[in-house]
Amino acid sequence: MSNYSQLLSTADKIIKKYDLCDQCLGRLFSKPLRLSSNKLLGKKLKINHISKNKCYVCKNLFCNLDYFLKLMLDSSSNYGFNTFGVGVIIKPSIVDRDDFIRSKFKLKGIDSIKADITKELIKLFTKKTKKIIEFLDPDITFTINLKDESCQLRSKSITLSGRYVKFKRGIPQKQKSCDNCSGKGCRMCDFHGISEFNSIEGVISKLFFKKFGGTTAKFTWIGGEDNSSLVLGTGRPFFIKIKNPFKRKIKLSNEKFDFISLSDLKLVSESPKKSLNFNSKIKIKISTETQINSKNLKKLKDLVNTPIVISEKSGKRYEKTIFDLRYKKSSKNVFTITITAEGGLPIKRFIVGDGVLPNVSALFDTPCVILEFDFLDITVK
Ligand SMILES: [Zn+2]
Ligand SMILES: [Zn+2]
Repeated sequence: MSNYSQLLSTADKIIKKYDLCDQCLGRLFSKPLRLSSNKLLGKKLKINHISKNKCYVCKNLFCNLDYFLKLMLDSSSNYGFNTFGVGVIIKPSIVDRDDFIRSKFKLKGIDSIKADITKELIKLFTKKTKKIIEFLDPDITFTINLKDESCQLRSKSITLSGRYVKFKRGIPQKQKSCDNCSGKGCRMCDFHGISEFNSIEGVISKLFFKKFGGTTAKFTWIGGEDNSSLVLGTGRPFFIKIKNPFKRKIKLSNEKFDFISLSDLKLVSESPKKSLNFNSKIKIKISTETQINSKNLKKLKDLVNTPIVISEKSGKRYEKTIFDLRYKKSSKNVFTITITAEGGLPIKRFIVGDGVLPNVSALFDTPCVILEFDFLDITVK
């Protein structure tokens, strides 16, 4: 008996005993016959057979795929995307019956029913939308649950970078998390993890949620400042990763708000994995307890290119460098320094002297406090 007639006879045996739909029957033989349409093959093999019952394996699931296609189309209608992926959850009993037929009739090397359903859904969705299937890292992923007839959609997060200039004092950089969910995202905060938008983080998040949709946003800041500090020049760089965005591509332009302005906004592939090295140019207004001795003022220049050692309470020690320093006395107890320093130098502690050596208070031999300090510019190395 030829291979082909052997297959035909097996197919005959199967359909005499089990009612199978065209799709399920075809799938059992299409691979060995090198045919691509399970449905057409199944139809051919069943030409002299009339099905009376539902398909033994899939209970006619394949006739219902249009319903799941509609779920996919509905759930993705608000999303902008080019590529998609599909995951399918089916009843274990269907898999069991599929396995049973395959082992009973010794059929090897054929697609599982789950793989075939997935394939069919991909085919239907591609035909309807002209979107592209992508297995590794799609823009959106459908999880279609055929057990409870639901469809879940997850969209890949997007990351943007930009810079902010802060021209008003008294604004915090970070936003307090939602009281109800501590930032995870809940119904009360619209799944954003924050419920107020009165910080730099809040204002930027709100803008991007409006433009791209999405649930939570995760920030990576290149340094930080006090609530009372300004950030001037080209501003402080930041990265924001938005989870589950609706849109993926939008033309971005500079934005201005009550207390910050944003520039250099662009989509990037990801937030930096390691912390970036950067320098800050900072203007610090300092008041001294005793009168300023101009000899000490000159000694400030010695701080340039001298390692500034910072000791943490944990025992950790690290060094930062000041590359440039200018000073200006404005009264007998007040002077201003403008420094360019490595990012991460703790400014307040450097002035007060808390765990930092050398420091300004020690140099002047009198307690010094900061009246005001502003970032004039931040440069990423
Ligand atoms: Zn079937
Ligand atoms: Zn919440």
